[in-house]
Amino acid sequence: MSHQQYRFADPMSHSRTSNADRGVACDAAGASPHRLGDKLIGKSLTLSGITKTYGAVEAVKDTSLDIHAGEFVSIVGPSGSGKTSLLTMIAGFEQPSAGTLRVDSQDITSVAPHLRNIGMVFQRYALFPHMTVRQNIEFPLRMRRTLGSAEGRKRVDEMLELVRLTGLDGRQPH
Ligand code: ADP
Ligand code: MG
Repeated sequence: MSHQQYRFADPMSHSRTSNADRGVACDAAGASPHRLGDKLIGKSLTLSGITKTYGAVEAVKDTSLDIHAGEFVSIVGPSGSGKTSLLTMIAGFEQPSAGTLRVDSQDITSVAPHLRNIGMVFQRYALFPHMTVRQNIEFPLRMRRTLGSAEGRKRVDEMLELVRLTGLDGRQPH
């Protein structure tokens, strides 16, 4: 799996930074699809000229980025540089003021969040306090009704193992 890192400029330097300077980090050569089990996960995501303004605040400025299928990408930048704004636009919770988002060749700029098949974990994430660890992990799978209960259970077990919580799944999160 290749890993590209996209650095956002310091917000204070927006006016001094050309779009070219803020361009796409490359390191995508040789990117190989990441496989989870035998399922291919990932499609390409292309951001073209994404800008987001909130009133007078320019949160994201003319940002273009090519993320290949299966690539792992970090967006790095100081607080206020537009990382969260960019992610909320990718997830569809905010609309860009300008620019387009594409998944493979499909323009998803105006597609509703629940039809995008894109997930997002918020910085201030919330766990359901009345559910166990397992039920919290299971929740999105149940909502999407994409997996049968046996396969869902297996996926939750895999995730528990990944984050080293195997055996603690019956606990409450608090
Ligand atoms: P980061 O996640 O990199 O810290 P944000 O995307 O949260 O940056 O914020 C980028 C800029 O946009 C900041 O100046 C922030 O105050 C502003 N901003 C973010 N969300 C809103 C909003 N909903 N309304 C007004 N301004 C916002
Ligand atoms: Mg943020």
